[in-house]
Amino acid sequence: MATSAARPRRTDHARPENQPPTDRFAVAIGGSAIGGLAIGGLVVNAPRKVAILGSTGSIGRSALEVLKSHRGTFELACISCHQQLDLFKKQCIEYRPKLAVVTDDSSLQTQQWLQGPNPSSILRAAGTDALIQAISGPDVDIVVAAIVGVAGLQSSLAAVENGKRLALANKESLVVAGQLLLATAKKSNAEIIPVDSEHCAIFQALQCDKRPTPDSVEKIILTASGGPLRDWPVEDLEKATIDDALTHPTWSMGRKITVDSATMMNKALEVVEAHWLFGLPAERIQVVIHPQSIIHSMVEYRDGSVIAQLSPPDMKLPIQYALTYPDRTPATAKRMDWNASQSLSWYPVDPDRYPALELGFEVARRGGTCGAVLNAANEAAVELFLQAKIRLTDIAKICRTVLQHHDFASSPSLEELLKQDRWARDEVMRWNKSLC
Ligand code: NAD
Ligand code: MG
Repeated sequence: MATSAARPRRTDHARPENQPPTDRFAVAIGGSAIGGLAIGGLVVNAPRKVAILGSTGSIGRSALEVLKSHRGTFELACISCHQQLDLFKKQCIEYRPKLAVVTDDSSLQTQQWLQGPNPSSILRAAGTDALIQAISGPDVDIVVAAIVGVAGLQSSLAAVENGKRLALANKESLVVAGQLLLATAKKSNAEIIPVDSEHCAIFQALQCDKRPTPDSVEKIILTASGGPLRDWPVEDLEKATIDDALTHPTWSMGRKITVDSATMMNKALEVVEAHWLFGLPAERIQVVIHPQSIIHSMVEYRDGSVIAQLSPPDMKLPIQYALTYPDRTPATAKRMDWNASQSLSWYPVDPDRYPALELGFEVARRGGTCGAVLNAANEAAVELFLQAKIRLTDIAKICRTVLQHHDFASSPSLEELLKQDRWARDEVMRWNKSLC
């Protein structure tokens, strides 16, 4: 496969510093749903061609299950992974994508895979450029962005640049480059549909707003499970081990987001994500702890009505909705059991237990380079924690310090954002070395 990458173009920023989009809601800009083509009076629904980026991950595996239960509606155009070749090979055989791409083209394992037996007779390619080229072309309609971290940004940008529907799980794309991603989507009429369960819930609840005005929404309320350590005494948090942080009470997710959930950095990133997706300032975003993870988030309207979306915690539902919107298709995920007793509760966030959360509000308020810096510092710090080099409680402290000391720019280009990303990672490594 040729490797001439459709590199994301730099997009001019029409909006002034950190202004949310002028559209009432930034999501689902333009585009169409599972469109039917009328031929001789009959409506023929051509399957929509889906690329699942990060198919070996938690979201990727759920997305494959959703597609399996929607045969005829969708076809699997492409899957990608970075490593984990054993699982990827099995996915190629079971799900038979048209194209399979391993983005890590430097490893011997990848080269062996490219040259080895091809029992499913599918097209194979290696490298990020090959993936970008594939999702930019006519053989893909919908891109499920399920790569973890800023590594997912280039493909998210390529998807919107080429007018695809972006089913966005990779929240880091918005945290790092929200302004750029939305401006690019607007230009190309691409749709961005959130997969993150909270944002999917808000996206659904906002559809009650039939005559949106700038003030019809009072605020949005993001729910947070509180993570695996929510009942620990605050003074014990610094003793949390990797296993403690990775044992999530309600969700089964990848390692990075599970650690983010323990520190509540995940919710901090989601505050920024919501700010960009729904065009609301930080002051109109609130976070509450909801331990059962049944209410996925809420919209409080001006008149005091609160509209929530409820379902058992299973990412297959938001993935399915992002694929089928505005249609609703039969459930792939488990449904609510209304014959079983269930109590729902919520309570405010204790900032001493979760100091990371405030960083998300700060980033949503300041914008510019802050998202890139916070995200990179967090990715690097989580990696150090997972290597047992720092304590869980160090993550928020490191991120705060790096954020405070960075060279702020209000309207950065993609190149500037990536430069700040590298700088923040280097700072975290320097900080770690100074401790050794
Ligand atoms: P994961 O770690 O389980 O999977 C990550 C996937 O990304 C894997 O397929 C991996 O091969 C691929 N990948 C890793 N590094 C890469 C790189 N450098 N280049 C290309 N591909 C790479 O992660 P996950 O839990 O599925 O999360 C994926 C994304 O979805 C994250 O942004 C996360 O915040 C978001 N998200 C996840 C959940 C969840 O329930 N897991 C919920 C909401 C949002
Ligand atoms: Mg979420």
